[in-house]
Amino acid sequence: MRFSGFRVLREGLTGNRGWAPHWRDPEPKSDYDVVIVGGGGHGLATAFYLAKEHGITNVAVLEKGYLGGGNVGRNTTIVRANYFLPGNSEFYSHSLKLWEGMEEELNFNVMHSQRGLINLFHSDGQRDAFARRGNAMVNQGDDAILLDREGVRKLLPYLDFENTRFPIYGGLYHPRGGTARHDAVAWGYARGADARGVDLIQNCEVTGIDVEQGRVTGVQTTRGAIRAKKVAIVVAGRSSQVAAMAGLRLPIESHVLQAFVTEGLKPVIDHVVSFGMGHFYISQSDKGGLVFGGDLDFYASYAARGNLPMVEHVMEAGMTLMPMIGKAKVLRSWGGIMDMTPDGSPIIDRAPVAGLYLNCGWCYGGFKAVPGSGFSFAHLIATDRHHPPAARYRLDRFATGRGLMDEEGTGAQHNLH
Ligand SMILES: Cc1cc2nc3c(=O)[nH]c(=O)nc-3n(C[C@H](O)[C@H](O)[C@H](O)COP(=O)(O)OP(=O)(O)OC[C@H]3O[C@@H](n4cnc5c(N)ncnc54)[C@H](O)[C@@H]3O)c2cc1C
Repeated sequence: MRFSGFRVLREGLTGNRGWAPHWRDPEPKSDYDVVIVGGGGHGLATAFYLAKEHGITNVAVLEKGYLGGGNVGRNTTIVRANYFLPGNSEFYSHSLKLWEGMEEELNFNVMHSQRGLINLFHSDGQRDAFARRGNAMVNQGDDAILLDREGVRKLLPYLDFENTRFPIYGGLYHPRGGTARHDAVAWGYARGADARGVDLIQNCEVTGIDVEQGRVTGVQTTRGAIRAKKVAIVVAGRSSQVAAMAGLRLPIESHVLQAFVTEGLKPVIDHVVSFGMGHFYISQSDKGGLVFGGDLDFYASYAARGNLPMVEHVMEAGMTLMPMIGKAKVLRSWGGIMDMTPDGSPIIDRAPVAGLYLNCGWCYGGFKAVPGSGFSFAHLIATDRHHPPAARYRLDRFATGRGLMDEEGTGAQHNLH
């Protein structure tokens, strides 16, 4: 089933009776070439690119709940390529290019909106750091413009420039940054993978990983045993638990991250804005809700809901930056479980068990990574070679200490990233 303007018109005129389900609901087969554990953004994108780029279609995605019910449908939807360090810079640059072709590639409207991202700075030192980051972005082939205070005021006149605790010195503007509709990204990849023959199996929790003589042979699930030549673990906040089924101890802690949305308002915030003196970032959804978030809750947890101290911090930061939002009513808040690595950068690598592959450690930034991660992980699974933009995401960097990518410079402590 292809989407087009003509199709929408025809269905509208004929009672919308021609639409079909976006994917099948198959029974699991007894064996597959590749089993992907986790039907979030990364798992579904991996399945799609395995089929599309490598012709590997005897693949199952096993999801314990429903497709897109994890973090991929819980995030604040920010998409950007403004990373600084070699290793991250080329990966996110590649990922953003895939975003830019995604809707055509998937024939699906994911509402990708490149409305521009502005990171504010509030001191001379921060300006220097952002100028350096901007230069790294430009060197990578991405876009970055350093704005002074008046430049920011022109784009974001609603910020508090006069009476604020942390005066705004300027901002790093990334025009190609923006947002997308998060669950549509999962649905688009699911639809594309299913159309190429991948089995998407929901309500199927993996409860064990079978290993014989150092090689993975399949998985145990709540819907029976499934044999597989290769098994890929892509379960975000549950990475440590699922990897433990194969006897692995990952350098990952799980932490809750919260987000918030207000009632629908008329258009007011037409960029993505992040505050430089506290953890606060905000955009406005197409429905009009102000979508915003802050930092982790600062203790390890598997609870998908957060606590009041962080709610207070986020609201305070928002009020400091743009007091006008005090008039908006918050409708909902929720949490997601983040897979935090010691250096804040992800892992895309083979596990020390033959045939087992790991994709995890996306921390709070894995939504923008969905296409790049799926592409690179599919490449690794299909060829057993690292895809160059993701070649530094090795698991062994945490054992050797070489090649760490500490983007924030906060050191090797999970809850500071
Ligand atoms: C509040 C919040 C805000 C965020 N904001 C941003 C943002 O603005 N920009 C950005 O880039 N990133 C953001 N992120 C991070 C981003 O959402 C995640 O890094 C990313 O979605 C994780 O990858 P995923 O989509 O594959 O995870 P998920 O969608 O969580 O997928 C993992 C799947 O694995 C399944 N699973 C787990 N265990 C098993 C099992 N045993 N068997 C079968 N299936 C299993 C889960 O049910 C889940 O569906 C945010 C996250 C949160 C929570």
